[in-house]
Amino acid sequence: STDWSLAARPVGMPKLSDFASREVDVADPKDGEIQVVNTWMSVDPYMRGRMYDRESYVPPFQIGETLQGGAVGRVTASAHPDFKTGDLVNSMLGWRTAWVAAPQAAMVQKLPNIGLPESAYLGVAGMPGLTAYAGLLRVGELKEGDTVFVSGAAGAVGSTVVQIAKIKGCTVIGTAGGKEKCDVVKSLGADHVIDYKEAGGFDGLVAALKSAAPKGIDVYFDNVGGDHLSAAIEAARPMARFALCGMIAQYNETGKPTGPHNIIQAVGKQLKLQGFIVSSHADMTPAFHADMAKWIASGKMKYEETVMNGIEKAPAAFLGLFTGANTGKMLVKLG
Ligand code: NDP
Repeated sequence: STDWSLAARPVGMPKLSDFASREVDVADPKDGEIQVVNTWMSVDPYMRGRMYDRESYVPPFQIGETLQGGAVGRVTASAHPDFKTGDLVNSMLGWRTAWVAAPQAAMVQKLPNIGLPESAYLGVAGMPGLTAYAGLLRVGELKEGDTVFVSGAAGAVGSTVVQIAKIKGCTVIGTAGGKEKCDVVKSLGADHVIDYKEAGGFDGLVAALKSAAPKGIDVYFDNVGGDHLSAAIEAARPMARFALCGMIAQYNETGKPTGPHNIIQAVGKQLKLQGFIVSSHADMTPAFHADMAKWIASGKMKYEETVMNGIEKAPAAFLGLFTGANTGKMLVKLG
């Protein structure tokens, strides 16, 4: 197997030289183990958090140890009664081309047969899709007729948020970087799209939000943080709900990040700001899969992917998340 590990902990924006690859032997499975060849692997923004040496909801990556992340693959040999050669599985053993492990240790799930291509289980029908679904419907307490603002709207989570909100009869405002991405967000059904790079910071975002939603927003789905979050506070209606999903604008921050200067409005407007982690909402998976299968089949849910080919491209794909190289889900195709 070709495996990637950290050569050094990134400081600020990660660099290709922070990563190192090596060849690792993959043994035959021992009793209770399966051997898998990965066909797709995911790179996700949260992985940046695991590159810091600090306590978090997932343990930090260690230098020289193979990195981990979502991957889809096929069983090539099995010594486990529940798995047979050819089974399609989802695991947390990405950043490598093949592996052997006990299914429990690899956090393996057999994939449901809902008629989707393999790669979809790492995006719209996988972790990012469930993040959008749980964050919007449960954390954001979405109601028909709400005005929803979502940042990072051309990305894996954001593009799914846009479409779920439209399916649920809401007005949607999305932000993305650049005209091309804004056109994609519009094509997904968003009512208003703001190019945040053109808006140029807090004042520009507030002005664009006020013109898109003169009566304010009911739900903010935050993927970005920073000026986006402050602008959403400014545009929030009383009792608005904020689903705090991620704040990618500060993942590579080396100094002390600034908090929203206008957070005091959360008091008077009685805002509900709630952070969440997708794994805490795993109980929604069956409903999520059922809805997604239906929505994708009926054409109500579209999904884009940006694919880099070959395990050697994994670090570049990861870095691309922070420069906006992806539209929709960023993926690495293996084998
Ligand atoms: P995306 O597919 O959205 O990819 C990242 C995108 O973020 C880029 O394409 C880029 O789009 C945008 N971006 C990067 N840097 C900045 C910046 N400085 N300011 C504004 N935008 C920036 O990733 P995901 O959909 O996988 O993740 C989206 C968010 O959801 C992340 O914050 C992630 O951490 C979070 N997340 C949280 C989970 C949870 O359980 N809470 C689970 C999964 C994801 P553009 O070109 O438009 O700038």
